[in-house]
Amino acid sequence: MHIRKDDIVVVLIGDDAGDTKSPTTGRVLRVLPKENKVVVEGINRVYKHMKPNRRNPQGGRLSKEMPIAASNVLLYCTTCRRGVRMGKRYDNQGRKERYCKKCGLSLGFLSKPRPRYAQKSGR
Ligand SMILES: [Zn+2]
Repeated sequence: MHIRKDDIVVVLIGDDAGDTKSPTTGRVLRVLPKENKVVVEGINRVYKHMKPNRRNPQGGRLSKEMPIAASNVLLYCTTCRRGVRMGKRYDNQGRKERYCKKCGLSLGFLSKPRPRYAQKSGR
């Protein structure tokens, strides 16, 4: 899974997809690795109509975000201002790092420093 909780992502398909000039972005609320899906804030929202009941005497509409396929989102790069493909690399402390393949910007670390990898990479 290339997406993590709290990532900012660009949504590529569906009713919520923007165009290239104004991509639709959202924060990842939840990652479902087994299903390869993610839940993105404000994206793929469905409304549930509730009848009045004891807990909710007014009834009405509840909105809830439904999971979308992880392949339909791209990490958002603040430098490129768009969704980008990302790569993985190890920095000189041996931390696994995600980066933007377009501009090389770091998109966050995935692991703690591991000297073993730092030595190997030699970069
Ligand atoms: Zn970039």
